[in-house]
Amino acid sequence: MKTELPVGATIGILGGGQLGRMLALAAARLGFKCHIYDPNNNAPAIDISAKATIASYENKHALISFAKDVDVVTYEFENIPTTALDQIEAFTEIHPNRKALQVSQDRFVEKEFLNSLGLKTAPYIDIKTYSDLKRALRIVGVPAILKTRTLGYDGKGQFRISNDDEAAQVMKKISSSSLILEGVVDFSKEISVIGARNVNGQVTCYDPGENIHSNGILKNTTVPALVSRNHLTDAVLLTANILNSLDYIGVLGVELFVSSEGLIVNEIAPRVHNSGHWTQNGCLIDQFEQHIRAISGWTLGDGSRHSDITMENIIGDAIEEISLISRDPEISIHLYGKSETRPGRKMGHTNKILKKN
Ligand code: AMP
Repeated sequence: MKTELPVGATIGILGGGQLGRMLALAAARLGFKCHIYDPNNNAPAIDISAKATIASYENKHALISFAKDVDVVTYEFENIPTTALDQIEAFTEIHPNRKALQVSQDRFVEKEFLNSLGLKTAPYIDIKTYSDLKRALRIVGVPAILKTRTLGYDGKGQFRISNDDEAAQVMKKISSSSLILEGVVDFSKEISVIGARNVNGQVTCYDPGENIHSNGILKNTTVPALVSRNHLTDAVLLTANILNSLDYIGVLGVELFVSSEGLIVNEIAPRVHNSGHWTQNGCLIDQFEQHIRAISGWTLGDGSRHSDITMENIIGDAIEEISLISRDPEISIHLYGKSETRPGRKMGHTNKILKKN
């Protein structure tokens, strides 16, 4: 049994976006204080946290004083520069660990890891040059998707390619030379699992949710996912396998394609996940509290689902409908306090209970 973080301890969170904000809210409920680290002084998590450091991830001095001020560090996004982690780790523990970050920061490394566990992924080939791409298109087949290996999210840095001409066009406009070509998976549904593992190796998973994307951005998640019992079991077991293999501490999101060949892993996110926001109103212990419990050495909470539920993201100017939405007493509203609305920007989400179980 490792030591539990005492009530009143300070949790450092790298990244002050909506995920950081909801983590900080959960931490406050458990009696912890949060210290947010973010380069942007408008970051949504800052409003509701005890402390904030506004500095870049290259600012060695700021990183060290942040690390010295907190009892443990976690993060809300996976693209934290390795150098920043080196500075912090000299003073305090980071959960989830470096291996989880290393695997999820790079799509090629991630696919190699998943395949090493015997899990299925889309076919993939590492690409550096146009001739690599032409050769890979013959192997993977068309259409295929060219993605940047690092820093892609919400469908950014992704290009569908159907022939050599399109390949040439894409290679001209893409600035990165660290790419991956993926075969297009013929899927019937997209589902995801939110799993958690704590310091003592206790593992738990929430029920898989069914996800609808629009323009590469998650639109809504509905639970239960309407897939076979075998797929539901398999989804949870493979998530536990990933958690244990990474010696993981915290909450992890696993995105899956349901195909005729079974479940295919799209990607893993070493953090709380948008497709897990339904847990705030569908379970006693939500993903945010679960993550805080896990990284604090606490026992994991009961994540059983008490209702059928749907989570809908409020994206861009859909926020203007909020007054209308708020008139429905059966919708739970979660807004992120972002002052500026932009197309594609996640402004909040709603949870609506479909049926109490
Ligand atoms: P990603 O950023 O990799 O999660 O991709 C965003 C979305 O693009 C996914 O949720 C899928 O809808 C689609 N997508 C990505 N990769 C593939 C693939 N290899 N085959 C089919 N669809 C994909």
